[in-house]
Amino acid sequence: SESCSNCYRVVLIGEHGVGKSSLANIFAGVHDSIDSDCEVLGEDTYERTLMVDGESATIILLDMWDNKREGEWIRDHCMQVGDAYLIVYSITDRASFEKASELRIQLRRARQKEDIPIILVGNKSDLVRCREVSVAEGRACAVVFDCKFIETSAAVQHNVKELFEGIVRQVRLRRDSK
Ligand code: GDP
Ligand code: MG
Repeated sequence: SESCSNCYRVVLIGEHGVGKSSLANIFAGVHDSIDSDCEVLGEDTYERTLMVDGESATIILLDMWDNKREGEWIRDHCMQVGDAYLIVYSITDRASFEKASELRIQLRRARQKEDIPIILVGNKSDLVRCREVSVAEGRACAVVFDCKFIETSAAVQHNVKELFEGIVRQVRLRRDSK
């Protein structure tokens, strides 16, 4: 995949329990892609080709942030290998929102000179009665951290397709401005 100009390595990061694996599982089953099957490259790596704005793009999605078995090095590895990042928090968990800010800062530190595409993802938007983080707060945070923002629900599959299309668009914007 190193030689593939339309392949993007996208990394899911965020607090345990916010829904990263749920989003990855939906990605693995997205319907209107070119390939009918998602290729599972490992237990926490998925590859899928999508059509976005009339152009195909292959996303290699890494969901290994919470992999305890591999130890701490995996997080450093994750910080280094992504072409793009989805920083996920749960709208029902303020601590996970604060953690997302921390991760944005860590990522900036780890990849100082690079303009890395990032989407801040407020997941579990279906749990309206348990909301602890408003849409406005999420949006404001994304402005401060200079990234995109979207609220999703893995449970009811709201905005998940838009999320993956969105990250492809963010990578392309940077590619095209070079
Ligand atoms: P991870 O630790 O970040 O990978 O989170 P998981 O994907 O394992 O999800 C943690 C828990 O939250 C599971 O019980 C999921 O079913 C639940 N969950 C994930 N996404 C959503 C969502 O959008 N809405 C609701 N209601 N529950 C969700
Ligand atoms: Mg998980």
